[in-house]
Amino acid sequence: MSEIERIFKCRRCGFCCQGETTVSLDGDDRQRMILALNLSEDQVRAGYWRETGRCVQMKTVNGHCILYQDGCLVHAGRPWRCGQWPLHPSILADELNFQIIADSCPGINAELGYEEFCRILRRVMAEREKVCC
Ligand code: SF4
Ligand code: SF4
Repeated sequence: MSEIERIFKCRRCGFCCQGETTVSLDGDDRQRMILALNLSEDQVRAGYWRETGRCVQMKTVNGHCILYQDGCLVHAGRPWRCGQWPLHPSILADELNFQIIADSCPGINAELGYEEFCRILRRVMAEREKVCC
């Protein structure tokens, strides 16, 4: 079992893809998504992105990310913030953040307790520039 698997195992519940807003996309995210969808930038822009000023997010439909259909349609090319979830660094700053995230993600192994969870998460983060689950 890997270090990440000790603290998190995705249950594929899709809860983190629900809501009326999504994560914002940086330039690398946009290029990866274009490649993953195998469409032109104009097609992806028109079909999947919501642009507010300089902020680009995925559109939502029926209360979830437009790319969610019983799983992520661009899993390999998903935005890095989607890949990082739920191992967000704010967990290390405050136990309340840990509880809020654990309550919204059934994949979190909350049984470890906050201190042990953070010990493992720190080790995982020390090994990688960007944590991707
Ligand atoms: S990351 Fe958490 S909330 Fe999202 S699908 Fe996996 S288990 Fe569910
Ligand atoms: S891009 Fe994929 S992982 Fe991210 S919110 Fe949309 S469906 Fe979920």
